[in-house]
Amino acid sequence: MRTSQYILATLKETPSDAEIVSHQLMLRAGMIRRLASGLYTWLPSGLRVLRKVEAIVRDEMEKAGAIEMLMPVIQPADLWVESGRWEQFGPELLRIKDRHNREFALGPTHEEVITEFVRKEISSYKQLPLNLFQVQTKVRDEVRPRFGVMRAREFTMKDAYSFHLSDTCLDATYRVMHQAYCNIFERIGLEYRPVIADTGSIGGSVSHEFHVLAESGEDAIAFSSGSDYAANIEKAEAVMPTEARPEPSKDLNTFATPEAKTIDELKKKHGVKPHRCVKTLIVYGTPNEDGQRGLVALVVRGDHELNELKAEKHPLCDSPLEFAKDEDIIANLGAAPGSLGPVGLSIPVIVDRSASILADFVAGANKDGEHYSGINFDRDVTQYDIADLRNVVEGDISPCGQGTLSIKRGIEVGHIFQLGTKYSEAMKAGVLNEEGKNQIMTMGCYGIGVSRIVAAAIEQHNDKNGILWPQSIAPFQLAIVPMNMHKSHRIPDIAERIYQELSAAGIEVLFDDRKERPGVMFNDMELIGIPHTLVIGERNLDNNQVEYKSRDGQTAELFDVENVVAELI
Ligand code: ATP
Ligand code: MG
Ligand code: MG
Ligand code: MG
Repeated sequence: MRTSQYILATLKETPSDAEIVSHQLMLRAGMIRRLASGLYTWLPSGLRVLRKVEAIVRDEMEKAGAIEMLMPVIQPADLWVESGRWEQFGPELLRIKDRHNREFALGPTHEEVITEFVRKEISSYKQLPLNLFQVQTKVRDEVRPRFGVMRAREFTMKDAYSFHLSDTCLDATYRVMHQAYCNIFERIGLEYRPVIADTGSIGGSVSHEFHVLAESGEDAIAFSSGSDYAANIEKAEAVMPTEARPEPSKDLNTFATPEAKTIDELKKKHGVKPHRCVKTLIVYGTPNEDGQRGLVALVVRGDHELNELKAEKHPLCDSPLEFAKDEDIIANLGAAPGSLGPVGLSIPVIVDRSASILADFVAGANKDGEHYSGINFDRDVTQYDIADLRNVVEGDISPCGQGTLSIKRGIEVGHIFQLGTKYSEAMKAGVLNEEGKNQIMTMGCYGIGVSRIVAAAIEQHNDKNGILWPQSIAPFQLAIVPMNMHKSHRIPDIAERIYQELSAAGIEVLFDDRKERPGVMFNDMELIGIPHTLVIGERNLDNNQVEYKSRDGQTAELFDVENVVAELI
């Protein structure tokens, strides 16, 4: 590829709206551009990386015995009603109507569609087990799209679904998938950890997440010092022995008042200890004038039971609230039925500390300016550590009983589940078994965030000059930088010949044939992160040599012009 015929689209300045390094570098290196919140165009360099990740994922899936297919992004609502998720999924499910007023969803995941396919197509135990996968665009109306393609509203996922007659068979495929995921992340060259995970809204029993370790990661994962136990923090909490838990707060429904914003102030005001009692904070919203949802009520829901739902006057609420049910909130706010609902946020919080968490959320939401408006809040109150928010903290005894826990941050790049019969039962997906009787199949599902991996890889591989791609997913393997080519008689021919020979040998070369100063070219190639560079300049050519440099700064070498291609391939 010649830069003169390409879109480099590199930027000198760091875009101010990009908070984390991968987002900044993806914009600066000309990999992506924002179209709207959570929606990105992939430029040629970005797409090359995305396709490489995809190819590795596809290859390992096929090696593991999965078969590729492709399902529609647009999914009929009926299937989601059948599985029960049309109601359950909430506002993250983007819903549309066609010209006949029929309802559809833009697929955030494909359990319903694949189950529909398999129940129609597969009729006998002889056709099982079956593991089907696709690499497809997913759509999720994320409450806070951020960090570029890391948390986008439209993204690329590899999702696989397996079908079995027995749980033993499901377990065997699950292990194969677990190994395939390890192979994928190793092959890409990422520092990652599989951790035991909660099954969340997808459902099922056994589940693992795969995390790329990075300080910017939105998730917290707990590691034991005394064993190889590793779990996402929700799971570590869920299995924490009761005696290891601190006393829950006696004052669960006390929200902080505006004057008491920090944890210390809270402690003083309410005389409470910093209890580590996790509840779920649900933010309710109703449309304001410009049709967006404004915050109107904050609800602490005890242990996910509707009966325990309690709300109180909060500085950010319009009116004092104290109700037992969702309907009461609707009635008291005078909101039109259907206009009020959880705005998609449901986070575990420590009740005593809700003010600071809330403040962070609101400040962030306003900063995005896309979901909520009309509320401002003192930014000072937002300092907290993610570990503080949880039941499990650094130094706790590991739930496995051996050693203590340390907590690290991770980016969830993959998630596998043993679903069991959750979908197959709801959607009556059965086959004839050996006895000729109808038997409901048992299922597994396996997701990988293909586009998120691109960003996660940059989080782990960068320096002050730009990206340092692992060889496996670099957009180009080698850059040719001819210095002041347009002023030279011999450089154009030599550069052209080396470019042709390396390309013919199957190396992906970016030939920088722009009329730019050498400094500009070097900066761009470093920013884009091409692992190897060949510099062709008059001075070395006097000795019949060209200079090779590795992006990581580890190697710099001179090669004879005649040998360089043979040395590099
Ligand atoms: P998260 O916890 O980050 O919201 P999730 O648990 O909702 O992710 P899954 O339903 O497990 O995601 O989907 C499988 C994979 O898809 C995730 O492990 C992640 O890598 C990727 N993914 C999920 N949501 C997004 C998103 N909004 N943007 C990019 N990738 C995503
Ligand atoms: Mg999610
Ligand atoms: Mg998750
Ligand atoms: Mg997940």
